[in-house]
Amino acid sequence: MATSTSKYAYIDCDPNLCVGCQLCEYICSFTKTGEYNSYHSRIRTVRVDEVLITAIACRTCENAPCVIVCPRDALTQDPVTGIIDINATKCDGCAWCIEACDFGAISINPQTALAEICDQCKDEPDGPQCVKWCPKEALTLTTPDQRAQKSRAKLISETLNIPQKATDPK
Ligand code: SF4
Ligand code: SF4
Repeated sequence: MATSTSKYAYIDCDPNLCVGCQLCEYICSFTKTGEYNSYHSRIRTVRVDEVLITAIACRTCENAPCVIVCPRDALTQDPVTGIIDINATKCDGCAWCIEACDFGAISINPQTALAEICDQCKDEPDGPQCVKWCPKEALTLTTPDQRAQKSRAKLISETLNIPQKATDPK
């Protein structure tokens, strides 16, 4: 699976906790459209291998390829948060951004035929709703520091052959 070197926060999923229930997709859809329709979700569940499932939302890449490739300058990235904004009056649904995203984290809304992407529920007072409602607490809005700490803990647990949860910061 592709990895991100984002210097911004993004929603991360622990595949060891995710059970693929898709509740995150339905909650995302409801939050953004008022409908429970997973096709309108900005977070996607994907199978990592035969056993593991995870959920993917925008990884707020630095120099985001979707922004660079858009021929209509419909995408902009907030320099502080890294959140990608889509200007619906410029987007024509060409899907170049989808081709450019290594994570499959941007999609075309089947009704509007316009691009859509996770904005970390920036307008919700209690933050990303998928994180809030995931029944397995598999989702976290992580900062780069938290991700680095988690990687170190994983390395230590693998090196010492101890259960990862003992050293795994949420
Ligand atoms: S709601 Fe949580 S457990 Fe269910 S698919 Fe989404 S991330 Fe996985
Ligand atoms: S679908 Fe819209 S946002 Fe994506 S590349 Fe095309 S014009 Fe830009």
